[in-house]
Amino acid sequence: MKEAVAGELSAAYDSAIVQKVRANDYRHETGRLTIHLAREFGFCYGVDRAVDYAYQARRRFPGRNVFLTGEIIHNPHVNDRLRDAGIRFLSDAGERRDTLGADDVVILPAFGVTVGEMAQLSLQGCTLVDTTCGSVLNVWKNVVRYAQDGFTAVIHGKVKHEETRATASQALKYPAGRYIVVLDHAEAGIVCDYIRGSGNRDVFLARFAGAMSPGFDPDRDLAHVGCANQTTMLMSESLEIGEMFHVAMRERYGEDHLAEHFRAFDTICSATQERQDAVLDPLGHERLDLMLVVGGYNSSNTCNLARICADHVRTYHIADPESMRSSNEIHHRPVGAPSTTMGREETTRDWLPASGPLVVGLTAGASTPNNIVGQVIQRLERFALEQPGGLPLEP
Ligand code: SF4
Repeated sequence: MKEAVAGELSAAYDSAIVQKVRANDYRHETGRLTIHLAREFGFCYGVDRAVDYAYQARRRFPGRNVFLTGEIIHNPHVNDRLRDAGIRFLSDAGERRDTLGADDVVILPAFGVTVGEMAQLSLQGCTLVDTTCGSVLNVWKNVVRYAQDGFTAVIHGKVKHEETRATASQALKYPAGRYIVVLDHAEAGIVCDYIRGSGNRDVFLARFAGAMSPGFDPDRDLAHVGCANQTTMLMSESLEIGEMFHVAMRERYGEDHLAEHFRAFDTICSATQERQDAVLDPLGHERLDLMLVVGGYNSSNTCNLARICADHVRTYHIADPESMRSSNEIHHRPVGAPSTTMGREETTRDWLPASGPLVVGLTAGASTPNNIVGQVIQRLERFALEQPGGLPLEP
């Protein structure tokens, strides 16, 4: 039904302005304003496919209840449009999983669901539309292999993120399967210190409570480890963490026995990598006054794009065009804020230089559709050029 929904998708998510900027070598100039758009931004192939399948599922099963297990992607606009199209969210208040049955259709999101959720929905006889991204499946394949061979999966990710929970559950398919989730360098360093023999068992267990497989024993379960990652993490950090474990295991077991104790595979998602690489281009070659990064505050890959930019230039991570309230007020998520403060916003005043040439870099996370990026361009243009009333926003 791909062709049947193509028009609907295009009307909902495409943007004429974005197409124009792309055609103009990713540059948009108007008056004193120049915008440099990253060459890779917005919907990745996995999200594109998941949204497409959701619309197709709605058409394919008319008259039946069609559910999503939760947010299809971390973008409120896309989720709300799906609700408007008649798709129900099992995560919404009042929805129940236990009453689902053979008449119900359930769409699984791009970042996948846990082994337990999948088994339960199958047991209830639901028709499943699985949009799990191939790059996520690649991570799972490696985690399963680790479990089969008695290696603990060390997952660089956010322990509460749906994808990381799904990936961790893959490790438990086999009796010898174990996992531990590390968020960043600091946590990886604690685990590496333990591998080298300098950690305290009780402190370790307290620190990683909730981030390890049930019954995790660091003295037993860190003897064989394999690295994996949540696909939307900062890729440079995933690689560095992999190297930290490589070094720690080599020091602990010696080069000759390293292969018996340590494994790593490339589980980096190319779309995430491309977006993170692409943002460095305008940062490295253009004089920017500021950078705008557009995407949901709970979108891991958007937060990481903002982290990269903030190392180079004043950066605002905004959820949508309306976050730019006026030419002197912007609402944004503080870059680098811990994931426990996902929804917290800050307000900055006088964010837009009032006169003189203005050069702005722009990118968007993998869950941000082009129409939102287009609206950001229009609104920025309006404020930069101080046109009272402004231009009409794209739908
Ligand atoms: S970010 Fe990568 S792994 Fe995640 S849905 Fe997009 S392409 Fe797939």
